[in-house]
Amino acid sequence: MISWPTPSIPSVPGTGRPVQLFDTSTAAVRALTPGPTARLYVCGITPYDATHMGHAATYVTFDVLGRALRDAGHRVQYVQNITDVDDPLLERAQRDGVGWEQLAADQIALFREDMTALAVIPPDQYVGVVESIVPVAAAVRALLESGAAYAVDTPDSEAGDDIYLDLRRDPGFGSVSNWSREQMMAVFAERGGDPDRAGKRDRLDPLLWRAARPGEPSWPAKGLADGRPGWHIECTSIALDHLGMAFDVQGGGTDLVFPHHEMSATQATVLTGERPFARTYAHQAMVGLDGEKMSKSRGNLVLVSKLRADGVDPMAIRLALLAHHYRTEWSWTDAGLAEAKQRLDRWRAAFSVATAPSSDGAVQELRARVADDLDTPGALAVVDRWAHRTLTVGGEDEAAPGVLARAVDAILGVRV
Ligand code: ZN
Repeated sequence: MISWPTPSIPSVPGTGRPVQLFDTSTAAVRALTPGPTARLYVCGITPYDATHMGHAATYVTFDVLGRALRDAGHRVQYVQNITDVDDPLLERAQRDGVGWEQLAADQIALFREDMTALAVIPPDQYVGVVESIVPVAAAVRALLESGAAYAVDTPDSEAGDDIYLDLRRDPGFGSVSNWSREQMMAVFAERGGDPDRAGKRDRLDPLLWRAARPGEPSWPAKGLADGRPGWHIECTSIALDHLGMAFDVQGGGTDLVFPHHEMSATQATVLTGERPFARTYAHQAMVGLDGEKMSKSRGNLVLVSKLRADGVDPMAIRLALLAHHYRTEWSWTDAGLAEAKQRLDRWRAAFSVATAPSSDGAVQELRARVADDLDTPGALAVVDRWAHRTLTVGGEDEAAPGVLARAVDAILGVRV
């Protein structure tokens, strides 16, 4: 699938530090140890609604990670999926009386515009489920043939069977989230699971393949009923096809820790006999609105596209996101956006002076903050201090404003 244009990434003198990142599965900040190419997979959108600040925070966070890895001298291979057929998309299309394909195409187009405006570097492979039916079906078939998956009758027996993974095949199941079974059961249904489906061996067994139901899209697949992939096997298959096992980082929002990342990893281990799926699992905390959880069901989404339409500078939106550490839950507020606009103005004023204090120390501190578990609030404070000195005390260095502006652009993705 076509992604979006790559922003220019200016070169900055020197090299960034090795990146440290909090790993959910070991609950510790660890040094990433990629080879020359760092392999990154971030779970993409289900395109049934526009990009809200929770999504934007996730993609900006992992964009900063990719920038830090590039700055540290790595090439980055970045894969992102799009869940362009799934229950929520079909339900929304039905509710609104539009075709599901049209709804998906419109929302993917809007997402591309939002990502372009926010200067997010596009994935190298941007892969939809609809274009991945053949490899996903092959993965499901392999699981069936090895005895790790099993069939469950559908209400309409002529449609053929649904296919589920037998979780008992992976004794390491649970090692991504480290959750208890009670914690898993508490969220499984609300996060796309079907614990009460009759015929399952374990209530947590994930759906791999859904046989066609009346009115739902389906695809023929050798050895399976006509149907469509389950959610988790989509990411397992796409990640394995493009990155292989033991890739460096799988990222997403904290709502993906369980079941999505847990199931994706278990399926990959059962398929390949190897672990880990990802060497590090990183998660963006939820973003609320004025102290409440931001969610589609509450109808309190702050949309990137709406702010852009209102004339808000996308770089101010990006700065408002970067002002919060990715592992801290926070709320979007008008005051936070106003603060980001003021900061952007201050930085732009400081970067447009003829001479300024040296930026060498600030560039090194900026690199150190970002490499330390993506401490973007700390990185912003470094630039704030330099800008304050520049605008109040001044300096003699002619190159400094340009060098730091390029560092801010390359490492934080903020064009000043
Ligand atoms: Zn995923």
